[in-house]
Amino acid sequence: MDGYTRTCGLIGNPVEHTMSPAIHNTLAGELGENLVYVPFRVPAAGGGDAVRGAFALNILGLNVTVPYKSEVIPFLKELDPLAAQIGAVNTLVREPEGYKGYNTDMHGLYRAMCGDGVGIEGENVLILGAGGVARAVAILAARYGAARIVILNRTLEKAQKVAEEVNRTFGPGLAQALGAGAYASLLPGEEKFLAIQATNVGMFPRTEEAVIEDPGLYRKIHTGYDLIFNPPETRFMTLVRENGGRAFNGLKMLLYQGIIAHELWTGASVDEALAEKAFTEMKRAMHLE
Ligand code: NAP
Repeated sequence: MDGYTRTCGLIGNPVEHTMSPAIHNTLAGELGENLVYVPFRVPAAGGGDAVRGAFALNILGLNVTVPYKSEVIPFLKELDPLAAQIGAVNTLVREPEGYKGYNTDMHGLYRAMCGDGVGIEGENVLILGAGGVARAVAILAARYGAARIVILNRTLEKAQKVAEEVNRTFGPGLAQALGAGAYASLLPGEEKFLAIQATNVGMFPRTEEAVIEDPGLYRKIHTGYDLIFNPPETRFMTLVRENGGRAFNGLKMLLYQGIIAHELWTGASVDEALAEKAFTEMKRAMHLE
């Protein structure tokens, strides 16, 4: 580091568990960039102060995590249309007059799916959860041509809100909301689903849990993504596999949302060989290598 070193970082609370430094510092090192990435724990309700302070300190870019993904939006100079539609940002890019907000979670998942050879066009997509990320996933599914989108959530009203938003933007009838107990209505019929698990259920330390246990539902899933990455094999993934489907975790989504953020900050283009190096370092930081 010297007088020319640029700084990027993560704002959130907590931030100590983050794997992002492993991703961005590996990319910076491999790309020969004079850039360092550090986590910043921001005290409650401090999202706006953090954005203003970061701009004053000439910080090049920020990732944003819980609980600031929506809170920082009023403090941005500009908002990418997709982030506006999702209502949450996870990446801020420095512009001359302030930061521009983006959401790279959705593109991160899409890039991970492309790498796994999983398409969305024409698919019946089942989304478990209706939180911030589930909403982004529903928009992803609609954008990339899903035939049908079912949003299943413990709190039905939240699923309904996401479904209404999708139907308003992409056409009536595409998305349907179900309360968690109503999944049985999906069981009759031949259709199979591409399922995306976007709840917190099954996350460390409660690794023995899945949002739904019924094998009948899992028999309807040909491919399942759990957006959770800790543990790397979740109960949801095990249930998908046990019932004949393919299952993936959220590690590649995490990797690619970071890579896309890095590309936005520096203008660099990260090829697959470099992505693989960053993936190895990220897994090492998680003690998975
Ligand atoms: P969020 O906004 O807090 O939403 C949480 C969702 O989980 C809600 O739908 C909530 O249902 C549901 N939920 C929580 N506890 C539940 C329980 N006990 N039973 C049933 N449903 C429950 O969270 P988020 O930001 O969308 O994140 C969701 C998941 O995505 C997390 O596991 C996170 O780790 C993961 N994620 C992964 C990546 C990645 O890069 N791989 C990036 C971001 C997030 P209610 O609406 O009923 O409360």
